[in-house]
Formats: sequence, structure tokens, C-alpha cells
Amino acid sequence: MSKQNSKLNWPLVGNAHITEFIEKLILKDEVSGTYIFSGPDNLGKTTTAIYFAQILLCQNKQNGKVLPCGECSICRHFSEQRNQESSVASGETGQDEMLYAHGDFHLIKKEKDKKNIGIEQIRDFIRTLNLSSFLDSYKIGIIKHADSLSNEASNALLKTLEEPKEKVIIILISADIGQIHSTIVSRSKVLNFHPVPTEEIYDYLLKDLKKSRSEAKSYSRLALGRPALAVKFLEDREFNQKYQEKMNIFINFFSQDINSRLLAVDQLFDKKVAGQELVKKTKRTLEVWQGIIRDFLLIECGQDNLMQHVIVEDKIKQAGRGIAASRLLNCSALIQRSKIMLEANVNPKLVLDNIAINL
Ligand SMILES: [Zn+2]
Repeated sequence: MSKQNSKLNWPLVGNAHITEFIEKLILKDEVSGTYIFSGPDNLGKTTTAIYFAQILLCQNKQNGKVLPCGECSICRHFSEQRNQESSVASGETGQDEMLYAHGDFHLIKKEKDKKNIGIEQIRDFIRTLNLSSFLDSYKIGIIKHADSLSNEASNALLKTLEEPKEKVIIILISADIGQIHSTIVSRSKVLNFHPVPTEEIYDYLLKDLKKSRSEAKSYSRLALGRPALAVKFLEDREFNQKYQEKMNIFINFFSQDINSRLLAVDQLFDKKVAGQELVKKTKRTLEVWQGIIRDFLLIECGQDNLMQHVIVEDKIKQAGRGIAASRLLNCSALIQRSKIMLEANVNPKLVLDNIAINL
């Protein structure tokens, strides 16, 4: 994202309270210790953290100048990575932040097929951060998915936080701060990212990204306050198609018999995906379906103007005709229960089959 936000050109839409706070820290030379960037996914937490690192590491900062120069080797390195990132949509988030690896900058995240970030990963992270910097500059470590640190990993990290080193900055990124060891939280400065108002995302898509009014409307609504998600829908065709596939399957459920629904669930499962990755994907499917139910209920209450899936407004309205409100409420409860079943390690396929049968 290239939204111009305040003096420092933050690549962030919304959440100005965060960038203002960080700017003040930088201007007063008070950046230190550990920060937690907390809030739902796709609000730009990682992008902000990486840019924050670039500002601190830029080699041409003099006389209180804080804007990264764009010319030094660090700035060129970071901007090259950003460009690569937007030209190759890789992985779930469309980014591969590992590309940013650099002497004074280290980023780790939960590996795709693992349930948590383990002790080895954290030891390696701490070791790298403790090496003295070549130019006596900052050393910055970012931990994505910090809510999935294992117990052992949390304890190892805690030891590092208890003996803070000057100029070593750690940023933990988390969508569920309740899962982070409370002692870690108490030793960190927590910055809360909030969902961004739909109008702000709409304006960004229309004015900054030059999208059409109808695209800006559809995707600002679909993103539910998450600007990075709106951009991903518009830039990553495959991701968009897969989302729409999940969405359509569920809308069709209401006019199908059990066997057709079970068949549709079958087709959703890619045999190559398994383990934690499959659980994550299934959770996402449930979120899409929950969104559709919410839209049905909004229409039922005459609040069409708040619909998330305006992208298929007519289809949802047509499908929703004749579905009793009690059935919709049951479906909503069924999906809630399914989420709990997934958390309890019930096989994802069984969870979705259960919905297809009981809908
Ligand atoms: Zn620079």
C-alpha cells in the first residue's frame, strides 16, 4: 500500500493514532525495548513494523530528520523487497517477509505446518539480535504470530526482555494478545490496531488505487475494516476466486438437498492440504459462511446497507427469500459450534460435513 499518511509516508491506511505515536517516539529519540502490535489480521501491522524498522535503520538520518532517505543501501534493500512483494503474490498474505532479512533486521514467524513457534526458532532469533551491530545501529527483531509462541519459547524470550539491551528493538505481532504470556505483555508497550472505517477504505481504493466506484464499494465492504484484505482481493485473482467459490457454495446450500451439499463440501477439500494448514483454511471457510448468514439476517432486518457481500447482493437476496429467520439463527449457532469443534481438533472435513447435513 502506498497511502500517504502524515510526514513519514507510512504505508498504512487508517490507524493514524499508531503512526502518530511512533513518530513522536522517533522524534524524541525514545524508541526502546519491546512493542506489541495487536489487532485483527490484515490491518497492516507487519507492513507498519517493517517500515518502522526501515526508518530506524536508514543510514542517512541526521539533525532530527526521520523520513527514510530512500537512497542508502538499507532503504534500497527495503524498497526492492517491497516491490518484489507486490509483483509476486506468494503465500497466504501475498507477502514473503523473509525476503527482508538483513544484518540488523530479523523476522520470524510461525512456519506453515507448525502449531507454534518453538524454542529453536526463538534461540536463533535471540542469538542474532545479540550480535553487536556493525555500525552501532539499531537491531530490530520482528516476531509474527507471537500468540503462537510455545511455552518454552515464551520463557526464553522473557529472559531476553528482562535484560534489555540498548538499541535492540523487538516487535511482537499478534491477532490474539490474550494468548501471549502475560509477563511478556507487561514488559511491552502495546499498540492496538483497530478495524478501519469502510468509508476510509473506499476512499483509499477509489483515490489512491484508482479503482472504479463499484469495485471500491464491493471490496471496501467485503474487507470488513481490513484495508490489506481489500487490496488482496483486488490484486490476487486466485485468492479472490477461492473466496468467491466458498461464498457461492454456501449460498447454494439453501436450495440443495443433503447429498448435493455433501458433494460440494467434498470439492472444497484439496487433497494436498493437511494438518494445521487445513485447520486454518477450514476456519477461514467458516468465517466466510458466517458472513453470509450475517448478510441474510441483515436483509431480514431491512439493513441491506450494512451488507458485507454486496459483490453478490442480488444472489444473496434471491437465495434468502423464503428462508425462515429461525433457520438462519440455527445456522449461525451451528457455525459457532463448528468453530469450537475445530479448536478441539475434530477433523475439518467432518466439521463441514456436519454443517452440510444439519443445515
Ligand atoms: Zn536510507
